[in-house]
Amino acid sequence: MKETFDIAVFPGDGIGPEIMAPATRILKGLAENAGYRLNLQDCAAGAAHYAQTGESLPEISMQVARGADAILLSAMGLPSVRYPDGTEISPQIDLRKALRLFAGVRPVRIFPGQKTPLAMPEGKEVDFVLIRESTEGLFYTQGCGEVTENEARETLLITRETSELLFDFAFRLAHERKAAGRGRGHVTCVDKANVFRAFAFFRSLFDAEAAKHADLTSDHAYVDATALWFVQKPWDFDVLVTENMFGDILSDLGAGLMGGLGVAPSADIGVDHAVFQPCHGSAPDIAGQGIANPFAMILSAAMMLEWMGLRADNPTVAADGARLRAATEAVIGQGDVLTGDLGGRATTEEAADAVIAALEAH
Ligand code: ATP
Ligand code: MG
Repeated sequence: MKETFDIAVFPGDGIGPEIMAPATRILKGLAENAGYRLNLQDCAAGAAHYAQTGESLPEISMQVARGADAILLSAMGLPSVRYPDGTEISPQIDLRKALRLFAGVRPVRIFPGQKTPLAMPEGKEVDFVLIRESTEGLFYTQGCGEVTENEARETLLITRETSELLFDFAFRLAHERKAAGRGRGHVTCVDKANVFRAFAFFRSLFDAEAAKHADLTSDHAYVDATALWFVQKPWDFDVLVTENMFGDILSDLGAGLMGGLGVAPSADIGVDHAVFQPCHGSAPDIAGQGIANPFAMILSAAMMLEWMGLRADNPTVAADGARLRAATEAVIGQGDVLTGDLGGRATTEEAADAVIAALEAH
């Protein structure tokens, strides 16, 4: 059984290094206690690195990322540092393209005690996963759409190859969740198949994949109705899978339901590689003060352990991921040790220490 895992660690910019430090401290502690090995290798990349060297994602960092079992990334980019064409430094997007990370995984969780803008009915819990296709769709012509004086065009691309990989991933995830006692083994395709032929194609590929999974159920929903249901009955969702732009918008709506960006983790997954990172950015406005919320980063690290453990058939690693998630959720739910963005007064280190203390009970 695989017991040694190489992790490429990108501390990044702004609050990035401040939230990565407690996350790697926790990971090292878990591995030491359970007897598996995590080789954590720091990789330079980001806006500060670009300002110093003229490179935002050095080849050596790319090589380490390619060779790693997983990539743990905090946040990259600073509004003050830009490429000559004026766009922001975003090596995370370069990684997504280079490693073909087609599935953006955004878990949305509201559990007892957690602050949310929703009026939660008694006994309901929100626990679903939004999967956003991350390499094509309406982002396909990103940065190179055609613009003349009088009109502008972008292309929406849906390919059979990527969609088949995406839907296969979605149904496997629904299966894993069901086996773990979360979710009911249901996948919803979110599209706009009534208006666009590209989405009718997307839906037909979804249906072909659904037909292979007799043990799971599926349905379709239009994206506009889905936005309504995010607010009215998100407890009914299990696994949702959608196109890039729709997923971009719905994932921020999901983070809003969870009570903010500071608690929203994510993963970008391909066939051979995966990046785990919080949904939020580098928050330069609070960098250097030791007050950034580390929970989204720690929850991303937990997702990484669960994913690596399942993939490598190492149940100890997967179980540590589930424990770390449960411990972090317990701290958020109790609400005694929260950072400023969640209405508390804890420092980054105090919040991380509370998770370590909660791990003992999980
Ligand atoms: P990006 O373009 O990289 O997504 P952004 O400008 O959209 O970045 P963020 O960097 O995510 O935004 O920050 C948005 C706001 O949320 C900021 O005011 C920031 O202080 C706050 N914020 C984001 N992440 C955290 C965190 N982990 N802890 C506390 N506050 C945070
Ligand atoms: Mg943003």
